[in-house]
Amino acid sequence: MRMREVTAGVLLMLAAVIQGRATICPANELANESCPSPEEARRTFVPERKPPLLIPEPSTLIKEDEPLSLAYYDTMKILQSKNQCSSFFGGSEAAVDVFGNFMASLRKEYLPSSIGLKMSGEYTNVLNAATQVRYRIFDKATLNSGGPFYKQKISSSATTIPPIGSFAPNSREARVLMLLHELGHLMRGRDGKWLLPDDGRSIAESLTNTRTIESACGEEIRTLTRTSPTEVVQNNSEQPVSPAATTSSHQ
Ligand SMILES: [Zn+2]
Repeated sequence: MRMREVTAGVLLMLAAVIQGRATICPANELANESCPSPEEARRTFVPERKPPLLIPEPSTLIKEDEPLSLAYYDTMKILQSKNQCSSFFGGSEAAVDVFGNFMASLRKEYLPSSIGLKMSGEYTNVLNAATQVRYRIFDKATLNSGGPFYKQKISSSATTIPPIGSFAPNSREARVLMLLHELGHLMRGRDGKWLLPDDGRSIAESLTNTRTIESACGEEIRTLTRTSPTEVVQNNSEQPVSPAATTSSHQ
């Protein structure tokens, strides 16, 4: 497999990832409750905090697709916080950076219904010189319009698409788990190996990889729907009829 080495721009990526927030208090608005008075400003000490990570603006494809857009922000919400899941991916800064670049390359096609996402073709090795994070981006990253990301059943049949990990297909949780699974193929661990081994030729290995991600991120994924129950649209009444779906297939 031919690979290309790319060093990403230092300043550009750093500027895209890290930005601070500031409340601007013009002199003529000192009466505004959100702006401290001169006396308060003198006696109040506010410790400097690390600025929150900025979530990259998603592509038009993502913005115009409601389930995909929700999954994008759900996943980013998990990765930008300090938790077991973001630690698995090497910390928030690295994970948000790589996930944003992966999602920017995503396209949609109809593939066999058992596939959620598929990454294939050559890949580019990327080094973010600012963060020293090394990762790869595949030439093709395809989201299956006819798979478990969007559907619970195979079109025009009663056959239910298998779950993703312990989550029903076409659920908010399953979508996030699918995306995090792919992220695991793009990033290396401290030992230099990919966080998830390639599994494009083995459904069993893909299922094992999904279990690995759910072990690291399942708690955070379940929290998504507990914190905003109004956004949950899920139907768990149908039982799967075959083993769990594969979430990636790359050669
Ligand atoms: Zn995989």
